[in-house]
Amino acid sequence: LGHKLQDILAKVGGQDKLSEDQVKATMREIRMALLEADVNFSVAKDFVASVSEQLVGQKVGGVSGELDAGQTIIKLVHDELVNMLGADKAEPTLQAGRNVWFMVGLQGAGKTTSTGKLAHLYKKQGKKILLVAADTQRPAARDQLEILARQVGVPVLKVEDGEAPATTKARIDAQLADKPADLVIVDTAGRLQVDAALMNELAALKNELEPTETMLVVDAMTGQEALNVAQNFDERVRVTGLIMTKLDGDARGGAALSARSVTGRPIYFAGVSEKITGLEPFYPDRIAGRILGMGDVMGLIERAEAAQLSGPTDKQPGEFDLDDLLSQLRQIRRMGPIGELIKLIPGMSRALPEGFTVDEQQVQRIDAMISAMTLEERRNPRVINASRRERIAKGSGHDVSDVNKLLKMHEQMKMMMKMLQGMQGGNMPSMPGM
Ligand code: GDP
Ligand code: MG
Repeated sequence: LGHKLQDILAKVGGQDKLSEDQVKATMREIRMALLEADVNFSVAKDFVASVSEQLVGQKVGGVSGELDAGQTIIKLVHDELVNMLGADKAEPTLQAGRNVWFMVGLQGAGKTTSTGKLAHLYKKQGKKILLVAADTQRPAARDQLEILARQVGVPVLKVEDGEAPATTKARIDAQLADKPADLVIVDTAGRLQVDAALMNELAALKNELEPTETMLVVDAMTGQEALNVAQNFDERVRVTGLIMTKLDGDARGGAALSARSVTGRPIYFAGVSEKITGLEPFYPDRIAGRILGMGDVMGLIERAEAAQLSGPTDKQPGEFDLDDLLSQLRQIRRMGPIGELIKLIPGMSRALPEGFTVDEQQVQRIDAMISAMTLEERRNPRVINASRRERIAKGSGHDVSDVNKLLKMHEQMKMMMKMLQGMQGGNMPSMPGM
């Protein structure tokens, strides 16, 4: 979308009101972008219709004229996406007494892995957990869960081949009478495609176990099919929440929008690695940016807004501030694998602080944290006190210790820039392609 977006901005930028034709042309591009990101066709169509309605004749520029027409469109589309993905952070219900979570989804979606991750997450929060291995479809599935259970340190009950749902229920009750748990998580069987026999089986087990949550696990790479899958599971076993897995891959995230909009259920978690710790809360704004492929543009718009809020903050010439760090990281990221590039920069490997490594994920984390800062904070990191650190950590989905590390790293880089500047007679170091 990168180029197209530039085109949109160039075409409509600078005007203060949008004509119907302009909105139409722009929305065609946005719809293409959504389809490219694997958003289901009908979802994309509805989305564009709703945004167009809001856009026609809209006065652009806001109160102070900081946002031009192109930015207004992008911001509206982005905000609407965030809205549709779920503006508020959603968490599954955990009531006093017994909670039963039923995990469903296609084969390979990540049910068993996510079951282990949930056990890990909630055990850390002090909950007593029982896992139930109810995937009798594949012989190895129950062993897979057993290994995860052992790794996390929670008990697991293995359902026998051909066991009646009522028997499973009775066995769970007996186990809980013996060893109480707050949370029972049931891993179930999947098939490669939606399948009537499987749905019947799941419905029968669900009826018996009366789960308090039924979580549909969706592989973010599912693409167009995500809508059908979500619709079918929801119709047959009434889903209460979603888990999107494999968001660490290069899926553009359209499946999340499709699954969410067809079920109307919240997305509780995002799977971000194969590891037991690889489960995070779902952040709609990250996925919205990813669907539109426009992290950069949103950063610009946020900064324009921040400028409106906090007034202009003058930048010291030659000072390497957090905005510089962010834009350099983003530029480097667009050029390819970062570790390789860093090594190409003359003097860089020697000048970098001891133990300094950059990987894609780290860059994304830094990006998220700096994006959560106000303009003033980026220009003058010294104002970032404890409560601001906490706000930034929360806003970007990180820990305060991550923010601390970022600020320390920036401090080190700033020193390094000063050193290089001195060496080169006052010029900022130039990196290839910048
Ligand atoms: P199930 O058939 O639904 O139980 O799927 P599994 O839990 O067995 O997962 C299928 C494969 O996807 C395994 O190789 C997992 O390691 C992998 N997987 C699951 N979740 C994630 C994730 O969030 N990120 C990545 N990279 N891999 C995942
Ligand atoms: Mg499984």
